[in-house]
Amino acid sequence: MADSPRESEPLLPTSNGADSRNERRAQQIRKVLPYGLVTLVVFIVAVVLLIILVEPYKVEHPINDPRESPLRDHLRTPAIFRHLEELYAIALKHNNSRSVTNGYLASAEYIQAQLTTKAGRYCDISTQEFKVPVWSELAVPELSSTGIGHDGNQITYQNKVDFQNFRYSGPSASLKKQLVHGVDNHGCDSKDHKKVAGKIALIQEGGPCELWKAAYNAEKAGATGILFYNNPNRKTLLFSRIRITAWKEGDPLIAIPTLSITNSLGNTLLQNQDTVQLTLKTANSQTIESTINVLCTTKNGHADNTIVVGAHLDSVPEGPGMVDNGSGATSLLEIALVMAEANYHVKNKVVFGWWGAEEIGLLGSRHYVRELVRAADGSRERVAMNMNFDMLASPNYVPYIHEGKTAPEALVGPSSKIDHLLVEHFEYHKKPYEYTDMVGGSDFLPFLLEGIPSGGLLTGAGEKKTMEQRTRFGGFANAPLDPCYHQSCDTLENVSKDALGIMSQAALYAITKLSKAKNLREWLAAADPQLQ
Ligand SMILES: [Zn+2]
Repeated sequence: MADSPRESEPLLPTSNGADSRNERRAQQIRKVLPYGLVTLVVFIVAVVLLIILVEPYKVEHPINDPRESPLRDHLRTPAIFRHLEELYAIALKHNNSRSVTNGYLASAEYIQAQLTTKAGRYCDISTQEFKVPVWSELAVPELSSTGIGHDGNQITYQNKVDFQNFRYSGPSASLKKQLVHGVDNHGCDSKDHKKVAGKIALIQEGGPCELWKAAYNAEKAGATGILFYNNPNRKTLLFSRIRITAWKEGDPLIAIPTLSITNSLGNTLLQNQDTVQLTLKTANSQTIESTINVLCTTKNGHADNTIVVGAHLDSVPEGPGMVDNGSGATSLLEIALVMAEANYHVKNKVVFGWWGAEEIGLLGSRHYVRELVRAADGSRERVAMNMNFDMLASPNYVPYIHEGKTAPEALVGPSSKIDHLLVEHFEYHKKPYEYTDMVGGSDFLPFLLEGIPSGGLLTGAGEKKTMEQRTRFGGFANAPLDPCYHQSCDTLENVSKDALGIMSQAALYAITKLSKAKNLREWLAAADPQLQ
């Protein structure tokens, strides 16, 4: 049996006997020796070069520098990404989504399980349950009319062109040959609806009240449906939520079909309101569901200076939400775990919050803030500030810091303090950043509305990168910062690990720094003092 050729091949010829074999080996060694020396020298030079190159970085960023988080090296992007992989697996088991009625609760269970095993001794883990209204369109709505013009023939209108559902338009309905009534004064007053009973209310948008209020007035007055027509300046159909903005359990929802229509259709119907009859069919699902916030409150730290750091954990029904907001939620999770593992000593209590139902109107964070205010024990007064992390890994990212100046006037000072702290981090690392506003669209809003200063980070959603931003941050100009924003393709492949690393480090810096501050309240309140 032969060995494999490579193993049986002799290192040196063997035909000349043992002596000559030794001699040849000696020659071989003499030949090889200079090469060995050269290799050794090259190796030493490489090591020296490496030390020279790496040393200044070490000197510039010592771990005990106050401008660095002492946990910097503990927070690793691959660990955050592993949590994202778990969330993605959950989405795949739930219709490729982690929305309230899909993989949300499983996502919340994952966060709780991680906290329980790795941070149970560091923070108290709890959940807040609350109710949310979930709405979806099961089939495209249909709208047609008769009685317009001299022949009065049936006219069929086109969904998304002439009309469309409002979100939270009532559940499925089928109305036949309904008369229309034009409501005065945008329908803000219940008196405007005296003649709508048994008819479809036709209301021009743009009045002094919320659309929801006008719709509610019409429904109470007995309207069978509602059509809001655009004011002459609005070119696109409204698709807002026809619902109380901060909806909570017990609040009403609209029970009749409510559509937006173009200005021209609105005027046509108005001009023909004595003869026109409408046929309208909708197929919508509207249910009340239970969902939760997950909280982890550090056992240590002054409760009077509580810092709430949050990220929403739900996705839209259309996709798995890896960037929006798996990236923020898992960064926050790993930060909590890293702080727990190091038993990081906090002077101020930190509440890590994973909010539910953000994608249907910030309902989780609104619930949290409402509960703070409702608690008679002064919980609200104990919260000194909030930070929000919603989308930290957009593939065509811009590293955005929420600008304190855009907060409500009374909070501009303290919110600017928070943004400056994040700016310091970017400047220290010589990394470019940009400011973005803090007007709406994420969970900082309920805090700001309650008078709690806020700040945070974002890497961008569906808006396009400008040429200027491309020059500063790289990536693609005239392309969305997140081309998969709120879509089924917001998968693991959509995640920028570079962005995730940069932004999670900035979040860690701010959280560890603020949680250790001796003078948090004074620092937030006054213009000058340094954070100590
Ligand atoms: Zn989001």
